[in-house]
Amino acid sequence: MTKPVVAIVGRPNVGKSTIFNRIVGERVAIVEDMPGVTRDRLYSKGEWLNHEFYVIDTGGIELGDEPLLVQMRQQAEIAIDEADVILFMVNGREGITAADQEVVNLLFRSKKPVVLGVNKIDNPEMRDSLYEFYSLGIGEPYGISGSHGLGLGDLLDAVVNHFPEELDDAIAEDTIKMALIGRPNVGKSSLVNALLGEERVIVSQIPGTTRDAIDTSFTRDDQDYVVIDTAGMRKRGKVYEATEKYSVLRSLKAIERSDVVLVVINGEEGIIEQDKKIAGYAHEAGRAIVIVVNKWDAIEKDDKTMQNFIEDVRAEFQFLSYAPICFLSAKTKQRLHLLLPQVKKVSENHHLRVPTHVLNDMIMDAVAMNPTPTDKGKRLKINYVTQVAVQPPTFVFFVNEPELMHFSYRRFLENRLRATFEFEGTPIHIISRKKN
Ligand code: GDP
Ligand code: GDP
Repeated sequence: MTKPVVAIVGRPNVGKSTIFNRIVGERVAIVEDMPGVTRDRLYSKGEWLNHEFYVIDTGGIELGDEPLLVQMRQQAEIAIDEADVILFMVNGREGITAADQEVVNLLFRSKKPVVLGVNKIDNPEMRDSLYEFYSLGIGEPYGISGSHGLGLGDLLDAVVNHFPEELDDAIAEDTIKMALIGRPNVGKSSLVNALLGEERVIVSQIPGTTRDAIDTSFTRDDQDYVVIDTAGMRKRGKVYEATEKYSVLRSLKAIERSDVVLVVINGEEGIIEQDKKIAGYAHEAGRAIVIVVNKWDAIEKDDKTMQNFIEDVRAEFQFLSYAPICFLSAKTKQRLHLLLPQVKKVSENHHLRVPTHVLNDMIMDAVAMNPTPTDKGKRLKINYVTQVAVQPPTFVFFVNEPELMHFSYRRFLENRLRATFEFEGTPIHIISRKKN
């Protein structure tokens, strides 16, 4: 299921990021704990009345030092392209400005559903100022206060009411959906073309899967694959395509729809911060991952080059220690034949289910080898372990005191799981629950 996207648009200082933070709550912090990854307050998951969705703060997308109106037009354009519902925010204390009116005209023409949030209505007396905003012609103005957390319920009800019917992908279960993500120019489109141009590959387009995406399906060695359209591969030449954060945003949508993510790196240039950010999202989303170092043809090599590069990748992507690395060239097709078997393998591992008795035997052995930690005289006791999900494999540990399951012991258990079973390329989730 693809989650709907809500984009917040509005002039600077109307309170977009305040509202964004209110909507996404605690979730923003997740990735910040990961070594080497910083998080943009730009795109995150939100939840309201059992609806999960993504929120974009278009104000967080840096569009250079263009004049305000140009920037706002671009932000509106991004929202129109990406969102299912647009939350247009104005400042209730300032009334309607020319910039507001201009953006509304753009949004109106797009025919996307728009919900109007009038922010900084901090107390009931101020609600009188709402009426003026009816004249924008985009329906009921919802008075809210980001700083006081008022009016958000009604606003989100209105947003959720505009969500489209469930957007299920019409792609068969046993098809591997893969997304190629990475900075512009690392060679994503070249790599897709190279894969599709390989011998023994049968290609077809699947129109009308989700929204405006065009996915490509192909079969190789009896396995069906779909390359999820990373919109970064289309719509070239748009002004905002080149902006860093926007290309990150486009990757996120592809990650969301995929099973296996190929994190593509430009071997010629090495790894930069943006690569880490993009890879961090794939990790956080729990997808199977293959790291692809492309343009291997363009590098002068000796017998240590690959080993050195592996060490760099491992140092830079510490949180992806489970992901295999494929060195190849989309241009010369050197080593390209290694990629799909690797994708298939990590996908299988992503689906791996360990029988409960095998799992418990293994954990008991691990505990015998490295006794559970103690804290203030209390020792962690693991009573029972069970795998509750695949994609990614998720294990629930029933324990006496969940707080005693420290990071380092959790890491030890994960390492034991990895040493015993085939989990290369897949994250593993470990949850501890109290049960005596
Ligand atoms: P953005 O530029 O649209 O993302 O706006 P911010 O969220 O950064 O907010 C701009 C300023 O307005 C900050 O100083 C906020 O503290 C303030 N602000 C945000 N929401 C409210 C509100 O509901 N009431 C009042 N009085 N101030 C607010
Ligand atoms: P994308 O923006 O990630 O989709 O990147 P493209 O596929 O458009 O490639 C960007 C540039 O890198 C193009 O000029 C390609 O010809 C070049 N390129 C892509 N793959 C390779 C490769 O394996 N080796 C070399 N030398 N160049 C490549």
